[in-house]
Amino acid sequence: MEAFTSATELAARIARGEVTAVDVTRDALHRVARANPSMNALLHVDAEGALAQAAAVDHARARGEALGPLAGVPVLLKDNLCQRGTPTTCASKILEGWIAPYDAHVVERLRAAGAVFLGKANMDEFAMGSSNENSAYGPVQNPWQSGRAPGGSSGGSAAGVAAGFAPLALGSDTGGSVRQPASFCGVVALKPTYGRVSRYGLIAFASSLDQIGPFARNVRDCARITQVISGLDGRDATSADLPVPDYEASLEKGVAGLRVGVVRDDLGEGCDPDVRNAILKAIETLRGLGCTLVDVTLPTARHAVSAYYIVAPAECSSNLARFDGMRFGPRLEKGDLTQTYGATRAQLFGPEVKRRIMLGTYVLSAGYYDAYYAKAQKARTLIAQDYARAFEQCDVVLSPTSPSVAFPLGAKTKNPLEMYLADIFTLPPSLAGLPAISVPAGHEQGLPIGMQLTAPAFCEERLFQVAHAYEQASPWKDMHPEVLG
Ligand code: GLN
Repeated sequence: MEAFTSATELAARIARGEVTAVDVTRDALHRVARANPSMNALLHVDAEGALAQAAAVDHARARGEALGPLAGVPVLLKDNLCQRGTPTTCASKILEGWIAPYDAHVVERLRAAGAVFLGKANMDEFAMGSSNENSAYGPVQNPWQSGRAPGGSSGGSAAGVAAGFAPLALGSDTGGSVRQPASFCGVVALKPTYGRVSRYGLIAFASSLDQIGPFARNVRDCARITQVISGLDGRDATSADLPVPDYEASLEKGVAGLRVGVVRDDLGEGCDPDVRNAILKAIETLRGLGCTLVDVTLPTARHAVSAYYIVAPAECSSNLARFDGMRFGPRLEKGDLTQTYGATRAQLFGPEVKRRIMLGTYVLSAGYYDAYYAKAQKARTLIAQDYARAFEQCDVVLSPTSPSVAFPLGAKTKNPLEMYLADIFTLPPSLAGLPAISVPAGHEQGLPIGMQLTAPAFCEERLFQVAHAYEQASPWKDMHPEVLG
């Protein structure tokens, strides 16, 4: 089996009996065993569990049962998603040794579809970061070039898919955490509309922004897994009661006549010239496919970084209050209860998590709430209104996913503000709750470049349609890192 066979192809071969799910899983585990020690993309590998799930698929086929759309397909789960009986750490020392007692909604859906869970993917601690360097268990190497960041916070999921561990992975995206690592690792990732996918069983970072999103090596695979995980779930009050369209059917619609909006400012000084040139070429490819290009503006998007880095820490300061050494994970006993809380949280949370909790507590405190938190929420509304106006003129908005290619590990760790600026293009859709996809759109300095497409709420099928048309007309889908040949 080749490392880079797609999920749809694998599922078809398994269904036809050309290969068994157990062989596919063994193969994937073999690649993980070979490359993971140097890449550090997975924090926990569940070989036994994966082989048992694969065997169940093979037995179901032998009995002539109908197979699910991902039957026998290996999937990686970001380590902030609960999988029953499996360690779930959020890459934090504060959850070391904690075993999830239940399945997240997306895990249930994937199980029902026949997917095989290989293991839990490394990430920035509690999904806070843009380079995976905030993991308490060490950074992930970018499979295209070691010494480079895989992006974050879902760096392990992105790197694992790029390196051929599995054709699919799930991550979570609060402000760019599936799209930016997808861009850095040369794979596809979707941040669905807020409410499209249930967050039940996703350990919360910033609940009004968090959304689970898939990684794949091509748009069709991304559409298929999105189909599986989307739809209403009563256990998440923000889960939307809206029908889920047939995403794969939208792929072949073509893009002739579709209006693509470009924010010219996004391609200005803040953007690395290699990224700018790649995106300009991608725009020409889309024009060649029959798209109409229109200039649009998002005047308030320039406030997105400031607004996000108030709203997200505010919500995290509240969500992370539950990690106190009493209910989950290890406890550092000290004097009285308050001292025990203090010691546990001071020693087991990493520096970025503590920075955010302090920032969040500050912006929510009496006297500062109106000046910071309420103001950031207003900026958020204005950004959503900017998009609404832009979508009167265009069907999707196009931008780079990240202003640069994968930066060297260590390049931004000393300056958190510089790290925050890596999210400049991914934050506006997040704050507006909109769906956005990152698709490979270039390759420079031996590293991939991603293009981001954003659509109106619940118009994921339009993103798949445009991304698929572009993918078929461009060479990037056939490029893979050499790490595993
Ligand atoms: N990089 C952003 C942050 O650090 C986004 C993270 C995310 O989407 N989970 O908060």
